[in-house]
Amino acid sequence: MPVREHDLREIREAVAKLCATFPMEYWRKADRERRYPAEFVRALTEAGWLSCLIPEEYGGAGLPLTAAAAILEEVQKSGANGAACHAQMYTMGTVLRHCSEAQKKKYLPKIAKGELRLQAFGITEPGAGTDTSAIRTTAVRKGDRYVVDGQKVWTSRAEHSDLMLLFARTAPRDKVQKKTDGMSVFLVDMKVALGKGLTIRPIRTMINHATTEVFFDKLEVPAENLVGEEGKGFRYILDGMNAERILIGAECVGDARWFIAKATAYANERQVFGRPIGQNQGVQFPIARAYMATEAAALMVERAAQLYESNEPCGPESNMAKQLAAEASWQAGDMCLQTHGGFGFAEEYDVERKFRETRLYQIAPISTNLVLCYLAEHVLHLPRSY
Ligand SMILES: Cc1cc2nc3c(=O)[nH]c(=O)nc-3n(C[C@H](O)[C@H](O)[C@H](O)COP(=O)(O)OP(=O)(O)OC[C@H]3O[C@@H](n4cnc5c(N)ncnc54)[C@H](O)[C@@H]3O)c2cc1C
Repeated sequence: MPVREHDLREIREAVAKLCATFPMEYWRKADRERRYPAEFVRALTEAGWLSCLIPEEYGGAGLPLTAAAAILEEVQKSGANGAACHAQMYTMGTVLRHCSEAQKKKYLPKIAKGELRLQAFGITEPGAGTDTSAIRTTAVRKGDRYVVDGQKVWTSRAEHSDLMLLFARTAPRDKVQKKTDGMSVFLVDMKVALGKGLTIRPIRTMINHATTEVFFDKLEVPAENLVGEEGKGFRYILDGMNAERILIGAECVGDARWFIAKATAYANERQVFGRPIGQNQGVQFPIARAYMATEAAALMVERAAQLYESNEPCGPESNMAKQLAAEASWQAGDMCLQTHGGFGFAEEYDVERKFRETRLYQIAPISTNLVLCYLAEHVLHLPRSY
């Protein structure tokens, strides 16, 4: 059921209030130390926001994706970084639509209570990159288990998650009709697996993202943890990916709104040549342009979320939402840095941190070129370029 405008406003206000209890110094310190913002994630969990998509019968709030998008947008708009926990929302795209009743009963109530975290989504591999069908991590059925071997890269939050949605090949690429066939999704209990075939190695990056490399060496996963049918996993992760693109689009809109508010305040307050810098059109216009781009992107995010929650096809809209919003946030970030002059580089203004953080979304979860390739091929029916 669509969420009402009034409810969305209340959700936004409540999330903003929670975020206000985590001052910018908290995020600066976490960024400086590359420390996982555990307290913030705990607070969001306890308030029930991270389980908002889980149906009420399993202990969640049963809200639609539009509400999840509003929550994450609000988190980013406050200057915080929802990347520490957003996966718990977008993995629901796969879990709610494709897990069995038994799997849902086993895991969802514990996730809703905050006893378990599902924050890791293991798809990308070093050797495959964007070409997901080229993944080499395999899961081979042996009786009542699958034996997993291989490697993932950029598996974010793996050290801070209890469960991982893992994507692996269950049939070799040259033995299937379509190269996207023969891949499957598993729910991996990481706490059980750690040290018994699962190794996690952190990767230090330009942002505080708790991302890692994950290695599988004869890791045994119970067959009951297979999601849906063996070999059909590509279709299942697409649902997760569309949800992810929409939610990340919402986060980018939140980032853009933070940059615009920050730049506007500074442009009104900073006096140079005896007047506020914001009186100069050279300073005003980039802010107005960023605002325009952000509002347009927000409409596409809203549209994609509505299609998604009505179970309508939404591949083009999800991709466009993510891309337009990522471009708007980057434009706004660049504008905000420029508006601040030299002070934009100072840690205490938080602009340089948010600038680094929002840059990610031109690359992850899918890079700009691949969104354009998708639209060219699947929407405009141009020849496939790769
Ligand atoms: C901080 C961070 C967190 C991440 N978290 C996760 C996570 O939790 N789980 C997960 O599974 N993955 C995660 N990723 C991985 C992310 O989704 C990938 O980095 C992204 O999809 C791009 O893949 P790649 O890095 O292998 O780039 P590549 O596929 O190697 O591409 C490199 C460049 O070439 C371009 N390119 C490639 N092929 C073409 C083509 N045919 N036409 C035009 N251009 C092309 C791309 O656009 C890109 O600019 C994360 C990445 C980062 C950096």
